Amino acid sequence: MMYTMFHRRDLALPPAIGRLTELAFNLWFSWNDGAKELFAAIEPKLWDQFRHNPVRLLTETDAAVLKERSEDEAFLQRYRDVMAEWDAYREAETWFQKEYPQHTRQAIAYFSAEFGFHESLPIYSGGLGVLAGDHCKSASDLGVPLVGIGLLYKKGYFDQKLDTEGGQLAENIAYDFNKLPIVPAYVPVLEGQAPAEGQGDGAPPLRELTVDVPLAERTVRLKVWQVQVGRVPVYLLDADLEENSPWDRELTAQLYGGNQDIRIAQEVLLGVGGVKALRALGIPTGTFHINEGHAAFLSFERIREQLDKGLPFHVALEVIRASTVFTTHTPVPAGHDAFPLPMFEYYFSRLFTDYPSARREWTLLGLDEPKQLFNMTHLALNTSALRNGVSKLHGHVSREMFRAFHGGIDVPEVPIGHVTNGVHLNTWLAPELKELFGRFLPGTWLRHQANKDSWKTVDLVPSESLWSVHMELKQRMIRLARANLREQRRRNSLPADRIEEVRNYLSPDALTIGFARRFATYKRANLIFNDLDRLDRLVNDPNRPVQFVFAGKAHPADHPGQEMIREIYRVSETDRFRGKIVLLENYDMNMARHLVQGVDVWLNNPRRPYEASGTSGQKAAMNGVINFSVLDGWWEEGYDGANGWSIESSDGADAGTQERENTEAIYRLLETEIVPLYYNQRPLPAQWIARMKRSIRTLAPVYNSDRMVMEYVNEFYVPALKRTQHFVANRYDEATKVADYKRFIRKNWHYVRVAELNDPQAHPNATTPKEVTATVKFGPVWYKDTAVEIVYYEEKADRWDPVIVTMEPVRELGDNTVLYRATIPPHLQHGPHYSVRVYPVSANFARRFELPLVTTF
Ligand SMILES: *Cc1c(COP(=O)(O)O)cnc(C)c1O
Repeated sequence: MMYTMFHRRDLALPPAIGRLTELAFNLWFSWNDGAKELFAAIEPKLWDQFRHNPVRLLTETDAAVLKERSEDEAFLQRYRDVMAEWDAYREAETWFQKEYPQHTRQAIAYFSAEFGFHESLPIYSGGLGVLAGDHCKSASDLGVPLVGIGLLYKKGYFDQKLDTEGGQLAENIAYDFNKLPIVPAYVPVLEGQAPAEGQGDGAPPLRELTVDVPLAERTVRLKVWQVQVGRVPVYLLDADLEENSPWDRELTAQLYGGNQDIRIAQEVLLGVGGVKALRALGIPTGTFHINEGHAAFLSFERIREQLDKGLPFHVALEVIRASTVFTTHTPVPAGHDAFPLPMFEYYFSRLFTDYPSARREWTLLGLDEPKQLFNMTHLALNTSALRNGVSKLHGHVSREMFRAFHGGIDVPEVPIGHVTNGVHLNTWLAPELKELFGRFLPGTWLRHQANKDSWKTVDLVPSESLWSVHMELKQRMIRLARANLREQRRRNSLPADRIEEVRNYLSPDALTIGFARRFATYKRANLIFNDLDRLDRLVNDPNRPVQFVFAGKAHPADHPGQEMIREIYRVSETDRFRGKIVLLENYDMNMARHLVQGVDVWLNNPRRPYEASGTSGQKAAMNGVINFSVLDGWWEEGYDGANGWSIESSDGADAGTQERENTEAIYRLLETEIVPLYYNQRPLPAQWIARMKRSIRTLAPVYNSDRMVMEYVNEFYVPALKRTQHFVANRYDEATKVADYKRFIRKNWHYVRVAELNDPQAHPNATTPKEVTATVKFGPVWYKDTAVEIVYYEEKADRWDPVIVTMEPVRELGDNTVLYRATIPPHLQHGPHYSVRVYPVSANFARRFELPLVTTF
C-alpha cells in the first residue's frame, strides 16, 4: 500500500535508463544483486567511493558517461532485466495478502531509534538497527502492511578511523540529505498554505510535511522524510530546520550522541513526533510496535489522543495497550534507558500543564520508585499487551529480570515471550551462493525460505562447487581487508614499505576466523589474547596456520571498549602476528557482508547471558561460515551438536571463572577439532564442507527474518489487531469493562486469601492420588474472576519444571467464601512440596498474569 504521493527528485537521466531513478529511491536495490551490479556497472569506482549510494552515483556521474551507458546494448539488456524483476516484485501476490486479506488496510507502525538498511544510509550503529532494517525488508517481501518510524540523523553514526596506536577517531560527517536515497514526505496543501516549490502544473498542490512536537516549554518542528524499502515506507524525522533554535536543530544530529538531555529529547521526538507524523500522513494504524524502549513515548501521545476523545485515563490505557507490541533487546538492567524524574517532568511540562489531572498516572507508567527514575522499559511494559525478548534464552532472562516488576510471580509466568531474531536472506547471502543454491534447491526456496523442506537438498550441492564459491568469497573478503589496511596506513602516513607489505597480509589458504561486532566490553573481543604463546602456536603453525580478522566500532563514550581496540591493534602489530591478525576500521554493513561471506569460522564469545540474540552469526551460517560461539543468544537454540562449535562454561560461573573456562575451551577446540578438521582431506576438505552444509541446512530455514516477521504477524500483530477491534467496538465498551475490572480488582485484591487448607497425610506407600481442599475467601471479588491452582515442581533431566493443577470450586460456603478441590500425587505435602495460589483472570486478558497480582498460600 502506498500512503502518500511519492515525489521523486528528477535525476536528469537519459530517457532510455530513466527508471533508474525508481531503483535509486527504493532500498529494494540493497537486496537485489542485479540492481547492485547495474549501478556498479555505471561507474565502478564512484559506486565504491560513494559507499554504494545510487542517488549520489546518478547525481555525480558525468552526463556523458550516463549517455554512453544508455546507448550500450549490453547495459540496456541488464537494465531491462532488473526493471522487469522490480515490476514483478511489486506486482506479486504476497504471503500476507493470502493469509490475512481482511487485515491489509491497517498499518503496523514499527518504531525504532535506528534502522540499518544499507551502508549508504548510516542511521544504524549495530545489531538493533540492522535487525530493524531486516524486519522492514522481510515485511516488504511478505507484503506485511508495515510502516517504519525513526529519526534522520544529520551526522548519522560516526565513521571510525584508527590511528597508529589503535586509537579510535570518531569522525562525524554532515550528510547532504539531497544525496541520500530518501525524499521529503508530501501531503496535500491545506487552505492558506503555500505549495512546495517546483511542482508541475495540474498536479494537486502538495507541501513537505512537518509536525510540531511540544518539548519542555517550547515546540520543536520536525521535517518528515520518507525512505522506501520495497513496499514498506519508513518515515524519518529531522529537527534540523531554520525554525528551530540552534540547540534544537542539533537534537537529531547524532545517533546515540550527547548527554541524557539530548537522549530524552530524541526519544520524545521519536515517540510523540512519530505518532503525529502518522496522523498527518493519514495512515490508518492498527498496531504499534516499540522496538526497544527508546520509542516508548509513542504511548504517551496515543494516550493523549484518547484523553482528547474524552476517555478516562485508565480506559485510554487499555485501548492503547491492546494494540501495542514491545520487543526488549537488553539483558542487563543497566542497559535500559532511564531518566531522572525532574528531567522527565521538565520535558513533559507542557503535557502536564495541559492535562494536570493525568500527570501522576503518566508518571507511574514509567516510575522506578526505588531509584526515582523514569524508566523507558517500564513505560514500554506498562503500555504493551504483548511483549517479547529476542531469543529463547533472552526471553527467560527477561522474565527473570522483570519478575519483581510483575509482583514477584514465578519466572515462567511473567508475561514476556520470545521471537528469536533472524536476518534478511537476500541481503546477507552471497549472490554466488544464491545462484548455486538455486540450482539444487526447489524453485520456490527463496519464497519459502522459512520452510525446512526447502533446504533439504543442500546436501546435493557438489562439494567442489560449494568450496570453490567459498574460496572466491574468501578472496573477495581478503581484497577488502587489504584495501582497508592500506587506506589506514596511507592516511596515517606510514612509510611506503609498511603500506606495500599489506599486499601479503592474510593468506587465502589459511583457516580464517572472523570477529566483527560493536566493541562493547561484554563481547570480550580480546578473550583470544589471554595466552599469546598458545595463540602464537596456532597462528604460526607452518602446516596448519590460523589467521584472524577483527573489526568493530566502540561507542565514543565507551573507553574500555576503545581500550580493547587498542589491545587488538597492538597484538596485530607485533612481529609474530603481523599480517595474520588484522584489525579493520569502520565496520559497516558492506564490510559485514564481506566478512560473513568470506571467512571460514565466525567467532563469538560474549559473556553469557549478555548477548540477547546476536545476528552476525546467523548471516555467517547461511553462507556456510561455521559458527564457533558461546552458547548465548540465538546460538543456544541454533547449535545442534554438529552444525558448528560451542564454547562452554560451567553453569552459573562468575565472570572470572567463565572467562577462564571459555578461553581454555576456545584454544582446546581450535587445537583438537577445528584446525585438524579444516586441514584434513586436502585439497577438498570433505568433512569440513559437510559441516558447512549442515550449518546451512539446519540454520538458514530458521534464522532468517521471514520466519521472524511471520511469527510477529501470527502471534503478535494480528492478535493485537483483533483484540483492539474488540476493545473499541461499541464505543469502547469492552475496553471500559476491562479497565474498570482491573481497577476494581487492584483495589480489592487484598481481601482474597486462602483461609484453610485440608491436606490429608497419605500412607507412605499410597499410590492413588489424594484429594486436597481449600477454603478461599474472596471479599468483594467474584470467585469466577479468579483461578485457584496448586503448583509443584517435577524433576526433569536437568531442571525442575512447574506442574500446575487447577482447583475446582465445589461449593459456595456463603460470605463470598468458596470450597475448592483438586487431586494430586499422594506424596506431596503442602509447604515443602507445593503451594496454592489465587490470581485474577479474564477472557479479555492478552496473557495470564496480565494483572501482576497473585496470592500464594
Ligand atoms: C549484523 C551486524 C551487527 C550485529 O551483529 P551481532 O552479532 O549481533 O553483534 C552489527 N553491525 C553490523 C554492521 C552488522 O551488519
